[in-house]
Amino acid sequence: MSTLLTGVGELVTGDPSLGDGSLLGLLHDAALVVDDGRVAWVGRSVDAPACDDVHDVAGAAVVPGFVDSHSHLVFAGERSAEFAARMAGERYSAGGIRSTVAATRAATDDQLAARAGAHVAEMRRQGTTTVEVKSGYGLTVHDEARSLQVAAALTPETTYLGAHVVPPEHADDPGAYVDLVTGPMLDACAPHARWIDVFCETGAFDADQARAILLAGRDRGLLPRIHANQLGHGPGVQLACEVGAAAADHCTYLSEDDVDALASTGTVAGLLPGVEFSTRSPYPDARRLLDAGVTVAVATDCNPGSCYTSSMPFVLALAVREMGMTPAEALWATTRGGAASLRRDDVGHLAVGARADLAVLDAPSHVHLAYRPGVPLVRETWVGGVRA
Ligand SMILES: [Zn+2]
Repeated sequence: MSTLLTGVGELVTGDPSLGDGSLLGLLHDAALVVDDGRVAWVGRSVDAPACDDVHDVAGAAVVPGFVDSHSHLVFAGERSAEFAARMAGERYSAGGIRSTVAATRAATDDQLAARAGAHVAEMRRQGTTTVEVKSGYGLTVHDEARSLQVAAALTPETTYLGAHVVPPEHADDPGAYVDLVTGPMLDACAPHARWIDVFCETGAFDADQARAILLAGRDRGLLPRIHANQLGHGPGVQLACEVGAAAADHCTYLSEDDVDALASTGTVAGLLPGVEFSTRSPYPDARRLLDAGVTVAVATDCNPGSCYTSSMPFVLALAVREMGMTPAEALWATTRGGAASLRRDDVGHLAVGARADLAVLDAPSHVHLAYRPGVPLVRETWVGGVRA
């Protein structure tokens, strides 16, 4: 059963070899054929082949579905009071995670699943078709494993983040907690995870602890990624490059050596500007990274503490307004960049053979995503060729 999506005013293929040859590979007055969940044909509407079904979007722009490469959706409770206090002048520190840990441990499996599922549905309505989901609010063997089971029911991109913060019961002996994370907790979590992550930051885990955790995960077949250089200069980015991590996320405080290491190893820099917005902190320098040839992804970091937005269009707009990216670069970073961060070549673009994951916009051009911030422009989201 083939479907012709036609009347596309502007089609963002995400493939520079298509259309106008730009970064986004734009085609105008375009059409796209979906067959068996994949893109089977792209081109000008007038050249489109006959299909079983026709869907005319009447001049709308169509973009690849967003790939949100960094989120924390399995949790209970909320921290609006902490946000209000921060906006009244208090500074963000990593320790606030512990209040969500207490609420998450107290929640039932069904409560966690319902909440995480609601967040994913919220993301879908905003055009996100692939999402990475981390554990990290359980911090016991049982609670991390069940968090990952909840995540795995929603996405294949699941990340074991037992090393989010040292939980209160291990505050006097962080080394014993690292042993737990690399031992019994890893045993329980590895079957439900694709990735392993560490919060490498003052107040969380240092370089030696983070290295031990990432290597233990890698030995079990999990792929490393890392929270790095968010709150200050630190060893996280260099460690990411050393262990072959797919991505170093945050990257706000970078030395020249850090930028060079990201560029030379191809480690993706994941920028999460919703965090800087929500913590009133300095934004990462995306321009510096792009000019150095670093692959940049932009993602939400959706979590109840430092950034409770699920909206890729919102962080895209922040990337343009606050981090010096062009609208085209920001759309690339939220689609192909996110796919690179997750080492996926089947999503984040709409060339022939890609998954038919896309968003139809209530707008004639992708530029409207940044030009009309805060406006719900995603009219339809298609996942695997099916309208979600
Ligand atoms: Zn995060």
